[in-house]
This record gives sequence, structure tokens and C-alpha cells, in this order.
Amino acid sequence: MSNATQLIHSIPVDPLTGSLSVPIYQTSTFVQEAPGVNKGFDYARTNNPTRKVLEDVIAELEKGTVGAAFASGLAAIDAVVKLLKSGDEILAVDDIYGGAFRLFTQVYAKFGITVNFVDTSNVENVFNVVTPQTKLIWLETPTNPTLKISDIEAIAKVAKAHDILLCVDNTFASPVLQQPLVLGADLVVHSATKYLGGHSDLIAGLVVAKDPEVGAQIKFYQNACGNILSPNDSWLVIRGIETLHIRLKQQSKSALKVARFLEEHPQVEKVFYPGLESHPNHDIAKKQSSDFGGIVSFSLKEDTAEAAIKFVTSTKYFKLAESLGGVKSLLSHPATMTHKTIPVEKRRAAGVTDSLIRLSIGLEEAEDLVDDLVNAFNKTATATKIKEEAALT
Ligand SMILES: *Cc1c(COP(=O)(O)O)cnc(C)c1O
Repeated sequence: MSNATQLIHSIPVDPLTGSLSVPIYQTSTFVQEAPGVNKGFDYARTNNPTRKVLEDVIAELEKGTVGAAFASGLAAIDAVVKLLKSGDEILAVDDIYGGAFRLFTQVYAKFGITVNFVDTSNVENVFNVVTPQTKLIWLETPTNPTLKISDIEAIAKVAKAHDILLCVDNTFASPVLQQPLVLGADLVVHSATKYLGGHSDLIAGLVVAKDPEVGAQIKFYQNACGNILSPNDSWLVIRGIETLHIRLKQQSKSALKVARFLEEHPQVEKVFYPGLESHPNHDIAKKQSSDFGGIVSFSLKEDTAEAAIKFVTSTKYFKLAESLGGVKSLLSHPATMTHKTIPVEKRRAAGVTDSLIRLSIGLEEAEDLVDDLVNAFNKTATATKIKEEAALT
């Protein structure tokens, strides 16, 4: 069975009515025959049939045993951190998602959980920073926005040897391109807001555990803390998943075309895309994922925020917005948007230079997207020329 077929048929037909679409169970509670005697559902925070379908589907797609759906990607990350206790350490990828950085350093730091950030694209670094207190390794691969790749299999070996849980934020790749649990990770999280939902119309998060006991703990925190996904939004994510395979395939194809176009463009300094042979971790990306995804970043030769802002406000199809993974192409300027709270020198050192621009490739025709970029480059060049001429007179 091909992946696309498995993905589509992982979503069950309703056993009660034959409904081809998963029913939305909009209820808070379930009638019991006698105390504790029920049909597997008693209260909808604990379990809801629509949410359960989504949880079972994502567990199957990620090749895990237990899935859990949360109100946001950050709520999903939060549930994983709750596996730890005061005194434990997290070893995390250095250019981590900003919201995860804030959660670790501004919320969990208060409860005595510390975090060491390292460049995990070099496995040696992981080896060197592990301590007896390290209980969780946190990876994102590819990372945002510089698309660094970490070797999941190699890091899983280090984690196993030290009895540390390895969690991979698989938001950028999705289970269609990369399955971290198969490569040795213990947990996967998703911001389902992005590719799984796929239509920029909801906020949702998912956790999948490989081990049923770890999964039971995640389910415990989901119920005990209550950050659950609603039945309506669960249904929307399920519907998004139905087209995940075809979307990711098309978006990866278009992204490679756009990345190759950018690589040749005279106004571009550097292109970040794991599918390019010039990407420093191209070989690992090729080994652990079936394609390279829909996110492309690049910097300008004119490395100023001004030039980048001119560029991101000159496109027609690429809309200026945070977030990614939807049907409509988006672009953003991390230095003044997602990464503006990071101190300048630290931000630049992490590769997020003043002119860095991130593209999320949608489902428009790749040729139209390239034309849109050509126009934005021309407008940016013209603005620069006018400015230079004004300076001369
Ligand atoms: C967006 C995102 C998150 C957070 O997800 P929300 O659904 O916005 O809470 C976490 N990790 C990555 C990689 C993301 O892109």
C-alpha cells in the first residue's frame, strides 16, 4: 500500500452509520448505563469520539502507539515538558521555535527545569552537552527559518545510551516526509496549525508517543490540564490530513523550483533549502526524509532590513504573514517579525541576518510564484537605485 493510500484510508468510515465523513460529536458528556458502565466515553475533556479519530490517525501516520490532540502546538509541547520534574534538564536545538524558547525559559525555568541550547546539526555537540540531569532532547529538523538539519538516528543513539527521551518537533516535515519515531525518537509533536491542518484556518497541536506508557502519561496530562482540541477543530485537522500527501508533494516540488531560481538570482546572497546540493546537511536530509518540504529562506546581497521590507511588501501572491504550511503562499521577514525579540548579535549569529526572508510555498503554479518574486526583486532594485541617486544629489 502506498503512503497516499494508507494516509487516506487511515481515516475510518463511521462504524455506527456508515458516514464517509467523520461525525462531529458536539457534546460535553455521555449517558452511562450504570456508574462506570459506558461505551468508552464518559466526559468530553477526557475523550471525544471525533478527537479520538484524529488521535488514532496521527498515531498511525507517525508509526507510534498513542496520539493526543491539543488546543495548539504550544499546548502539545507543554504536555511533553510536563513529563519532566524540577531539577531535570532539556537539551534543545539552538534555533528552536520562538514559542518553545519562551515556554522553556520563561515558564518552566520558574519550576526548576533548565535548558541547554546547542547546534544539534553537529552530533558531537549533543554528546558534549549531555549531563546526568538531561532527561529530554528537543529537536526541530528542519529548523525555522534557516532550515538546519539534525541527524535524528544518530542523536537517538546518544539519547538511548543515556536513557534520555528524544522528542522531535516534526511540524516542518510532517509524517509524509519524515517519521522520527521510525528513526529512533520517543515522541513527536506537531503544530497541526501548519501542514496537517493545511488551510490556515485553525490552531491545533498533536503529540505522538512510541511507547504506550509514555503515551499514557501524555494522555494523563491532557486530561489533568485540559488543553484539549475541540471536536470541530479535530474534524478540520482530519480533513486537512486527507490531502496532506498531495499537498506536501506539490509544495516540495514547487519549493525546489523556487530555491533553484533564487540560487541563480543576482540580488540573492544565500539560499537555505535542504533540497539544494549546496545545503550543508543535504545528505542527511536526503537520508532521513523522502522530500524537502515547502519552506525556503534566502538573504539579499543588500543585507538591510529596509531592502527586505521593500521585498516582502512588493509581492502579489506571497502574502505577508506569520505561519506557514497553507494553500496560499506566505512570506515573512523574521528579523522584524518572528525573531524581533532576540538580541541583534545573537540573531545574526544564528543566521537570521537583517535581510533574511522566509517563504512558505503554497499550491499556486510554481511559474506564477517565480514571476511574483521576479517582480519583487525588480521593485526592490528600483527602490535601492532611487535611494542611491537621492544620496548623490
Ligand atoms: C507554529 C509552530 C509551533 C507552535 O504551534 P502553535 O500551533 O502556533 O501553537 C511549534 N513548532 C513549530 C516548528 C512551529 O512552526
